Amino acid sequence: MTCKNCIYWTEDDSNEYKYNRGNCNNKKFIYAEDLYDISTQVRKTPDEDTLVYGDYEGYPAYFTTGPEFSCIHFKKEGDENEVQIV
Ligand code: SF4
Repeated sequence: MTCKNCIYWTEDDSNEYKYNRGNCNNKKFIYAEDLYDISTQVRKTPDEDTLVYGDYEGYPAYFTTGPEFSCIHFKKEGDENEVQIV
C-alpha cells in the first residue's frame, strides 16, 4: 500500500527533486486556502481523514492531519526507532 501502486499517483520527475518522485491527486490532501469560501467568508472544517497543507509567503510551510488520517510511518507509543530523515 504505497504510492507507486496507488490509482492517485502519477510518476513525475519534472519536479525540483528530479528523481523518484510523483504527484498524488487524492482529494483527501487539501490546500488550506481551498477550505475557505470567500463568498460566505467561512472556513470549512476538513474531514477527519484528511491532511491539510499550507504555504504562505513569509511563513513556514506546514501540514496538519485529522485524527483519522493514516500513514505508513505510524508508530505506537513505546516503539523505539524514530523515523530518520536522510
Ligand atoms: S499519498 Fe496519494 S498516491 Fe500515495 S498512497 Fe496516499 S492517496 Fe495514494
